[in-house]
Amino acid sequence: MANHTPLSYLDPARPEPWASFIEQIDRVAPHLGHFSHWLETLKRPKRVLIVDVPIVRDDGSIAHYEGYRVQHNLSRGPGKGGVRFHPAVTLNEVMALAGWMTVKNAALGLPYGGAKGGVRIDPQAFSRAELERITRRYTSEIGIVIGPDKDIPAPDVGTNEQTMAWMMDTYSVNVGHTASGVVTGKPIALGGSLGRLEATGRGVYIAAREAGLRIGVPISGARVAVQGFGNVGGVAARVFRENGAKIVALQDAQAAIANPDGIDITAALAHAAAHGSLAGFFGAEPISDEEFWQAECEYFIPAALEGQVTPERARNLRTRIVVEGANGPTTPAADDILQERNILVIPDVLANAGGVTVSYFEWVQDFSSFFWSEEEINARLESIMMKAFAAIWQTARERKVSVRTAAFIIACQRVLAAREQRGLYP
Ligand code: GLU
Repeated sequence: MANHTPLSYLDPARPEPWASFIEQIDRVAPHLGHFSHWLETLKRPKRVLIVDVPIVRDDGSIAHYEGYRVQHNLSRGPGKGGVRFHPAVTLNEVMALAGWMTVKNAALGLPYGGAKGGVRIDPQAFSRAELERITRRYTSEIGIVIGPDKDIPAPDVGTNEQTMAWMMDTYSVNVGHTASGVVTGKPIALGGSLGRLEATGRGVYIAAREAGLRIGVPISGARVAVQGFGNVGGVAARVFRENGAKIVALQDAQAAIANPDGIDITAALAHAAAHGSLAGFFGAEPISDEEFWQAECEYFIPAALEGQVTPERARNLRTRIVVEGANGPTTPAADDILQERNILVIPDVLANAGGVTVSYFEWVQDFSSFFWSEEEINARLESIMMKAFAAIWQTARERKVSVRTAAFIIACQRVLAAREQRGLYP
């Protein structure tokens, strides 16, 4: 029998995005010294839970949906990572997203393993009452693996602070006491943290600024294109604008728009809030998908879903720096093309780590029932992100590797050192 049995629950016909995550792990192997001995640990999730989520729909019919919670690694602490509601959610996707959380949390030095959850639904196709029932039933089903010191969910694509309020309430009712630390990204009134909502977008800006400082591309006056106009892309666009950048192109699920003089982000955010999309926004010209991917800019921010920066798009991008607001937006083959073209990539596990960093602050505040000011949160976010950026940048320079590989080297060393020190049971 071979040393490692293959994962039978992977569908070989649809390998992505888990295959991309594995490729990224493989690229780190030569840099891990004796820790590479433990590498297989990162190539298989520790725990995979698939749950049936049945609800009564508003019309009285019964419907079943599929939900997941994957704990990729728990060597450095409890699981941590969001919950995604999206029609494209699969076990494979949740596994990859959980793996990226392991790397992100370790790269930032947060005392967590990596986890992720999801339900394969289109949240827009349900009433609020139906979404509440789906969320509560899903939470109850994954209740056996989550908890403030076991695994702590948070928002991701398609979920928000209301989802977290329902999750916190459901878990609390089931355990018989209020457990605010079971999820992060909650409303402030329920133990949420100031600054959490904006933290991912703010972190994207911090990572971009640090990158720009090092290669001489100042944010002030820079042209920026953003894919995705939700909680990450929308906030990032606003913060870039506030710091003197010009947002020249935006794309959401329905539309792409451009304005070489800079898009009025306040107006665009108001339009998207009122109409659910950027489509029909008067302050910019509609452009094609192809034009969007060729927008001339200094900073390109993919802040939507994984697999968006394909090799073909990577060949055409006209930017200096790609800052990954989304998880897994760049395929490994596209990564290579960007590197050949001398386009700097600031990887997801660093660039979008602001969200989980402030989730960590929220969790600490919940445990101590003592809440910090927004200035304090933002100052600590700055300091953690800058410290992680500096260490990863230095490793990239010393080892002559991409910033992504450098982040993976630091993270994997931390995870595998913990794995080794804890030892194998039995
Ligand atoms: N979903 C976010 C991410 O991908 C946040 C996770 C969290 O706060 O736990 O990083």
